[in-house]
Amino acid sequence: MSDHGNTGYDEWLDAIAEGNAYYLECGNGHGSLPPRRICPECGEGDLEEIPLPETGTVETYTVVHVPAPSFADDAPYTTAVVDFGPVRLTGVTEDGVEVGTDVSAKISESETTGDRLLRFERR
Ligand SMILES: [Zn+2]
Repeated sequence: MSDHGNTGYDEWLDAIAEGNAYYLECGNGHGSLPPRRICPECGEGDLEEIPLPETGTVETYTVVHVPAPSFADDAPYTTAVVDFGPVRLTGVTEDGVEVGTDVSAKISESETTGDRLLRFERR
């Protein structure tokens, strides 16, 4: 199991794996990600699932050479913050991405633990 310990997060990973990625939007148009139950910006509790745009843009990335123990066998790897418009996602990504690279959200597994990971792949 991952250390997120939250079924909402696992269900969200399932949705991405099935090609049904989504984000949450409140009535005021604020985007957020599961497992939120209320909008982090305005506190509204009525969140709607909206399909995630297929393509996001790399905003920043970091090459990790000295990983956390749970990623020991994955290093070196690259993590990125990707701007999908209403929401930003953080995950691992392919080597060689740059700021501005277009990517889509996929699911892969940690080589170290077998846990599912959010992974961004070039479009
Ligand atoms: Zn809101």
